[in-house]
Formats: sequence, structure tokens, C-alpha cells
Amino acid sequence: MTTYTPMMQQYLSIKSEYKDAFLFYRLGDFYEMFFDDAVSASQILEITLTSRDAGTKDRIPMCGVPHHSAKNYIETLVSKGYKVAICEQTEDPKQSKGVVKREVVQLITPGTITEGKTIDGKSNHFIASAEQLSNQSIAFAYLDVSTGEANTIIVEGGIKSLLQQLLSLNIRELVVTEPLQMMITEQANNLGVVLSLENEEMSEEKCRNYIENLPKELQGVAKSLLQYVERTQMRSLSHIQPFTYIETKQLLRIDSNSKRNLELLQSIRGGDQKGTLLWLLDETVTAMGGRKLKQWLHQPLANRTSIEERLAIVTDLLDEFFVRDELKELLKQVYDLERLAGRVAFGNVGGRDLAQLRESLRQVPAIKQQLIQSGRETLIQLGENLDECAEIVQLLAHAITDHPPISIKEGDVIRDGYNEKLDELRDASRNGKDWIVQLEQKERELTGIKNLKIGYNRVFGYYIEITKSQISNADLTRYERKQTLANAERYITEELKEKEAIILNAEEQSLALEYDLFVELRETLKAYIPRVQALASKISELDVYISFAVVSEKYRFIQPTFHEGRSLKIVGGRHPVVEKMLNKQMYVPNDCILTDDKNMMLITGPNMSGKSTYMRQVALIVVLAQMGCYVPADEAVLPIIDQIFTRIGAADDLVAGQSTFMVEMLESQHAITNATENSLLLFDEIGRGTSTYDGMALAQSMMEYIHHKIGANTLFSTHYHELTALEDQLERLQNVHVSATEQDGKVVFLHKVRAGAADKSYGVHVAKLAEMPDAIIERAQVLLEQFESNEPIQQVQEVVVREEIEQLSLFEGESALSEAEKDVLERLEKMNIMGTSPIQAINVLYELQQAL
Ligand code: ADP
Repeated sequence: MTTYTPMMQQYLSIKSEYKDAFLFYRLGDFYEMFFDDAVSASQILEITLTSRDAGTKDRIPMCGVPHHSAKNYIETLVSKGYKVAICEQTEDPKQSKGVVKREVVQLITPGTITEGKTIDGKSNHFIASAEQLSNQSIAFAYLDVSTGEANTIIVEGGIKSLLQQLLSLNIRELVVTEPLQMMITEQANNLGVVLSLENEEMSEEKCRNYIENLPKELQGVAKSLLQYVERTQMRSLSHIQPFTYIETKQLLRIDSNSKRNLELLQSIRGGDQKGTLLWLLDETVTAMGGRKLKQWLHQPLANRTSIEERLAIVTDLLDEFFVRDELKELLKQVYDLERLAGRVAFGNVGGRDLAQLRESLRQVPAIKQQLIQSGRETLIQLGENLDECAEIVQLLAHAITDHPPISIKEGDVIRDGYNEKLDELRDASRNGKDWIVQLEQKERELTGIKNLKIGYNRVFGYYIEITKSQISNADLTRYERKQTLANAERYITEELKEKEAIILNAEEQSLALEYDLFVELRETLKAYIPRVQALASKISELDVYISFAVVSEKYRFIQPTFHEGRSLKIVGGRHPVVEKMLNKQMYVPNDCILTDDKNMMLITGPNMSGKSTYMRQVALIVVLAQMGCYVPADEAVLPIIDQIFTRIGAADDLVAGQSTFMVEMLESQHAITNATENSLLLFDEIGRGTSTYDGMALAQSMMEYIHHKIGANTLFSTHYHELTALEDQLERLQNVHVSATEQDGKVVFLHKVRAGAADKSYGVHVAKLAEMPDAIIERAQVLLEQFESNEPIQQVQEVVVREEIEQLSLFEGESALSEAEKDVLERLEKMNIMGTSPIQAINVLYELQQAL
């Protein structure tokens, strides 16, 4: 190393502390990268790779990005999952002896980046940390560095649930300790989550305020997250809020697959939000409100009192439509208070930000007044809880000009009258400027040149300008020539020079003072951050409540009611998103009645009749209700659901190379192992991904299991008509079907859910419409009648046998099963499906196939 130049030695020593990051080493107007960093960065960023003499025999690889456009490059790297360490010169090069001192001033990572195009105003950007408490329980903390929001929860269900959690919060970076890192590296990689190590814990005293409300077992994970964020940000984190503990029991849990299946926040096809429940619900007018709505949608409640409190507010806002509209207008004037508070803490708040903060806070008294004057109990309470933050408004009104520029170095930020010294300096420069205006007048008179003017530029300062044509007319002995232009000469005078010095000096001093005053003000404001955050949280909730009221009115939602039992009654329910997307056609409302005696439904009906829309609509009504929103129905009397599980087929189910059927089995397994009697299960077309017989076998045995062992409210749709016979065996199962009819030779879907199983001959019917040869239609009719005349199925085996016989009889008359076939059937029958993992199941299926 001794052969490297001193600067290179400095570089290498700093780089050794940031091995896992690109080190942006400040050199003049550039950030330079060297060695491997340079080689990879040049590829990723598509910039030229050069080399540099570093004192050694060979030149070393180098590449660089201009300081002023570094932001984009940093964002690109971070969005691809890399970290960037920003290394600045920390002393004035003029004062330094030898190599200029440099230090890393910030480590920008995927989870802690706070600015840029990757950060969407209406989304939170969380970084998380996890720590294993036991085999099944994982302590989990997450915080948004830009808004300061910080939460913890205990994730039950081991690593799998942890990964679910990462997906559902869209976590890009997870802080872990080594043992956990080893366990999840590969899965995290697949999800595009960067793992960052943190083995130190912050000192007790430093983090007491942040964690004191947490249960003991969650404090460690919060501490290491704080420690990591502090280590990377290297600046004040005064806006980070105390961690809250979210008790999962208080929430309606929906795993990330089910969220996607139900298209709560993302549509199944990915891409934009169109067609999601969020898209329908988002009438918020502030960015904070938008984020809060997403959080509520991610985590509907499972606590009846809290849900009813929210509903009561929505009711009052619905009734008081005038107040609601006024409030909405006021909220439009409120900027992103949370992120503004974050910028104050970070020290990167500008003049315009503070003006926005002031404007936002100025709306609060009126918001308060509207709420209180409404005379409604719930709204009065909301109003009384709003902190007007009057001191801050006063301070900002006094300190900041009406329209400050973004930069805080160009002046015009601090208001006259705020600081005496600043006023004096400004007077001096303003007086000087007045003097110059007078001088111009005076010189015109003295010289008799009417178009003589006094101007200013940065290089030459103040000057008197006379056009060439006028020069001969004047007595210019007092003037000293400064600059010659094509058609004019510029001069100065002794007098002007003196005044210039005073003006410029005063200006320079006033800019410097203004900057200092601004920084001082920023520091003062830090003390108020928690108050602004508390206000922000209440304002964003109000925004969501208003959004709920607006949506409920717009789409004719009604208030749901809850009871302590498990039965569920929805009359005239609708799928709000499908309804909104239908143009012209009317949405056909449907009831869903699940009682303690009949809490499972088997839904049959042809493709496209509306089975899966029906199932989703029940789930969406539950989600909406438990968020505290009204629901699309004529009447809804609901239980409190603890978890929703869905298995709904999607066209593009190929996740990470898993087959559709595997995904189906994994999702079903997840549902069946985690559901309780208070859960809601939706299974759409179970077993479609495999051959008829074992698909049907699986579907039936799953229904039996849910019926006997879980007892949850369950909706099951199938195209295996044979399964409808189960109604006779499973006492809490009811058959329903979605009807279709024929009109003028066309199938018409009525989308109406009716009691009983679907008409079996429907398929034959359609075949007829398609002008299938008569012979086939007739033969099908005969076969169908034979199937129907048989006993309801007791076991899948029977169905299989029967169908086998029918098939064989087509060609060679009646024939018995071979030994091998019997064997296979016997094994299938004895198989304990619920005790079989998906991999085992596939193996068994393979063996069975081989045996035939
Ligand atoms: P299935 O699951 O039976 O194949 P879907 O639930 O996917 O059918 O519904 C197919 C289409 O029918 C939907 O995209 C929607 O346009 C329409 N649809 C479904 N239910 C209704 C309804 N209740 N009212 C009006 N149109 C409906």
C-alpha cells in the first residue's frame, strides 16, 4: 500500500470501512470511483471507464460522475439494490496541508433513500429489521425514514410469514443479524430485498424514548433498526417517532397472495392501480392521506369497537355533506406535513418548504372550526384533538417571506423586521440602490445624455453606459473607461466605486446573515417536530374518513353492522370495482347468507357466469367493513373476521418457476394450516390445475377437512359438478349456482346466485348451440342420464370407477379394472392428503401414474 499516492491511501482506508457500498469519492467537481467499484459502476451506469495514475506501476481503473448530476446516478444504483457511500471533503482545500480531509457523510441504501423519483408521495417507503424470537415467532420492526413513522409487530409462522410481511409492506431492505441472514439470504434475493447486517445495539439511554412503549421482546429489533438508520444517515433523526406495537390480534390479517388475488392494492396483472380497491377508494386529497389509506387497506381492523368508531365518523361526515366539502377544500391546501417534518429533522429543508409548512398549518384553525361547528359528537372530538401549532405558525409568519425561493443562499427568505442587524444591512444596500437611481438622474443632467444608464453585472460591478453616438457630446473627464462594447462604452467614477463597495459588502453580509438565521430557525423548529407529526397523523386520518364518505355516497354504499357471532348476512351485495368498470350493463346484486348451520357454500355454474366475482365481492365487503368504510350492499350484518384466505386462480400464476398447480397447493396449504373458525376462506376452482380425478379428490377432501376440522365460513367454487352431491354428506354445506340461460340461441349470463346446484346439462346445451353433430349430443345426453341415475358419490373412488367404466364401454363393452388400476385407486383412497406436503403429493402422483 505504501506505493500508492497519499490520496489513494486515504481512499483505500475509507473504502475498507464501506466494502458493501459504492464509494463516491469527492474530487473537485466530481465523485470518482476506483478499482472494482469503477469497473462495475461504469457498466451499471453506462459511463466511461478510464484509468488513473495512483503511484503504482500500473494505472488503476477509474470512473466518475459530475457532482451536480450525481443524484440520478445514486438513485439508479440504489434502485438496483446497491448502497452508495457519499464521501465529501470536510475541510477547505485552501487551508489543508497535504491531502484534503474526507469523510463519508451519508450511506444511501435502498431502504433509507428519502428523495428521488423512486419515492412516491402516496406510498410509504419502509426499511425493516427482523430478529428471531423462537422457531415460529419473529420480532419485526419497520420505519419510514422520510416520515418518521415507526412500528413493530410479532410475525407468527416462521420465515414464510416473514417473507409475506416483506412482500406486503414492499420492503426493499431488511436489517438482520448473522444467524437470520444465513437462513434467508436466498429467499430475500429472490424477492429483491437487500439484507444489511447490524450487530450493534444502540445505547439504552439514546434510544429510550423510541422504544419505551414496546414489549420487552420487541425492543432489540427496534434498537438495531435505529442503530442502522443512524449509522447510515449520520445526522439528526429527531423526527423518528417512538415505535408503536401493532398487535396482530387487533388486525384482519390477509396474506400477500390473498391481497393480490383480491386486488386490494395491486391488480393481478400488475402494472397500475386501475381496477384495484385502492383505485376505487382513493379520494384523498393529501399525500399523507393517501399513505394512511394504503396502510388501512393493508391492515383492516379486527377490533369491533375501533371499527365502529371509524364507521361512526364516516356516518357523521356523510350526513354533514356541507362540512365534508368545506373540509375537503381546506385539506387541499395542506402539504405533506410528515415529509416536511422529516426534512426539518434532516436539515435539508428549504425556504419554500417552510412556507408550505406555514400555509398548511394556517388551515388548521379553519379545519378545527368546521369540525366543531358541525355539532356532531365524533367530529367535535376530532376537531378538539387537532393541535393548531400556533407558535410555529407565528414563528414562520414572522420569519419567512411570502414567496421564498427554493434555495436558502440567494436571500429573500427571511422577512424584514425579523432581525435588526439584517434590516440594517438591507437598508444599506437598498439605500445604496436608491442612491444609484438618483445618480443616474444626476449624470444624465450633467452630461445632457438622455439615454445614459447605470447597470450592473457580476464581473464588472456597477457601470455607467453611454452609447457610442453620444460619447462625443459629453465631458467625460470624470469617467474612467471599464469596458468597450460594439455600440457603447462603460465607465465608472470614484463616487460609484465607493458606493459599490458599500452595497456589495452589505449584500454579501446580509446573505450570509440570512443563511445563519435560517439555520438557526431550522434548529428551533426541530423541537416542534413531534407536534407537527401528531397533527399530520390526525389530518391524514381525517382525509381518509372524508374519502370513505365521498366513496360511500358516490357508489351508494351502506353502513354495515357487526355482531359477536359467526354468521354473515349480505343482502344485495356488489363487487364495487367490477360494478364501476361495467359500462352501460347493470351489475346484478347478490345475497350471501352464511349461518351457523350452513356456513359453507359450494358454487357451481359455467365459466364467465360470475362465480369468482361473487366470492371476491364477499371478501371485499368484509375488508371494507373492517377498515371502517361503508359497503356496497343493501344490508350487511357481519361477524368480525380474523383472517381472509383466498385461493383464486390467475392467468399468470408462474411465480418463481413453480407450476400453477404447485402454487395452488401452496396457497391452499397456507390457508388450511392457518385458518381458524373465525376466518373467511375462498377457494376458486380447486384442483383445476391437475387431472380431473385427483383434482376432484383434493377438492373434496379439502372441503371435508374444512368442514370437520376448521369450521370457517367458506366459499368454494367448482366446475366438478359431482361435488354438489357432497351437500348430503356435509351438513353445513349448501349448494348454490350462478345462473345462465339461453335466449335466441345464445347463452346469456344472468349473474344471479340461486340456491341449489347448477343445471347439469348446461355443457351439453352449449355444445348444441355450437352445432356439434347430433350423434355426439345424443350420446352425451344418454351418458349424463346414466351419471345422474347413480347414487350420490360417497367416495371419489366411485366416481372414478364409474367414469372409467363409461369410457371403456364406449369402445369395448363393459370391462373390469385391472389389478394395477385397483391398486392405484386403493392407494389414492387411503392417502392422508392433509398430512402430505405438496412435494410429497407430486411424488405420489408420479408413482401412481407410473403404476398404471
Ligand atoms: P367465473 O368465475 O364464473 O368464470 P367471473 O366471476 O370471472 O366468472 O365473471 C365473468 C364476468 O362476468 C366478469 O368479468 C363481469 O364482467 C361479469 N359479471 C360477473 N358477475 C357479475 C354481476 N353480478 N353483475 C354483472 N356482471 C357480472
